[in-house]
Amino acid sequence: QLILGIESSCDETGVALVRAEGGGVPRLLAHALHSQIDMHQAYGGVVPELASRDHIRRVLPLTQTVLHEAGEHLDAVDVVAYTRGPGLAGALLVGAGVACALGAALDIPVLGVHHLEGHLLSPFLSSDPPEFPFIALLVSGGHTQLMRVDGVGRYEILGETIDDAAGEAFDKSAKLMGLGYPGGPALSRLAEQGDAKAFKLPRPLLHSGDLDFSFAGLKTAVLTQAKKLGDELVTRKADLAASTQAAIVEVLVKKTLAALDQSGMRRVVVAGGVGANRLLRAQLDAACAARGVRVHYPELELCTDNGAMIAMAAAMRLQAGRQQANRDYAFDVKPRWPLDAIAT
Ligand code: ATP
Ligand code: MG
Ligand code: FE
Repeated sequence: QLILGIESSCDETGVALVRAEGGGVPRLLAHALHSQIDMHQAYGGVVPELASRDHIRRVLPLTQTVLHEAGEHLDAVDVVAYTRGPGLAGALLVGAGVACALGAALDIPVLGVHHLEGHLLSPFLSSDPPEFPFIALLVSGGHTQLMRVDGVGRYEILGETIDDAAGEAFDKSAKLMGLGYPGGPALSRLAEQGDAKAFKLPRPLLHSGDLDFSFAGLKTAVLTQAKKLGDELVTRKADLAASTQAAIVEVLVKKTLAALDQSGMRRVVVAGGVGANRLLRAQLDAACAARGVRVHYPELELCTDNGAMIAMAAAMRLQAGRQQANRDYAFDVKPRWPLDAIAT
């Protein structure tokens, strides 16, 4: 089966083609992405109306690019998958609308995919795909969750953030240091030149005994520290960035280890944009190697939003018999949609 995947939940338009054959891991044939980051940067965050309009402009050209790169024709596509939620309503409607219009025009089935399931299964696109079961650390711009994953669609949330997501903690801290939007990557680059022990910052809920997270207080502590520094912030920015990153990463790593201990699992999968963070990867790799636990990541470029993970999640759901693609083109989208809702 040839599956076309379309992602448009936020500020990235992503399109991809995946081939699923028999029971093997589906194979990525091509993917293309257009990030709107430059467009939104001037506003310090995503402007929903601008995002929707840009998705409209990009989605068909990206589809052409992907078909061309894969050496395939639109007529060969068997299923069109799209991100049904969660995300910005107007942005989701573009992908859903285009996917269902293509499905209707080609008389082929369509399938709505959960964006977080896309992130969660994105490590299956890597050259070193995981095997079920595993503990998943999902760390994105809007979500921070630890999950027990026993198979496709078999997700149990073990803990999650009670306020900000890890990506948000990176972005908000970066913003108040004047590092632009989204500042996560910039903050982590700057942190490499700084001293992580320079500032004492809180590790929220580190010893709470459960697997929940909280990052709002950390952001406030960074703000307080920045204000205290005043003019000195300019010369101490790398130190503050390094201290902030160390605090976020320590909590993520320790809670992941706690989830491993509690569940007895021997495998971890990291997914979502923050999974691209080098310190997180280094510390998690070291801690897990010491315990004989395997860690899997998505390819660096597939950590943040993309169409490949949507096509992949659709392919794996179909393979696992978790969902039927159908010719119901009267689409709806789900801006708010907890991952539990699709789990069984
Ligand atoms: P969600 O998937 O929860 O709806 P999202 O799609 O916006 O949110 P992603 O695209 O998965 O989130 O990830 C974007 C986030 O990842 C941003 O917060 C960004 O700052 C962060 N991020 C990306 N690269 C890095 C990095 N190297 N270090 C830290 N954070 C990073
Ligand atoms: Mg994004
Ligand atoms: Fe995402």
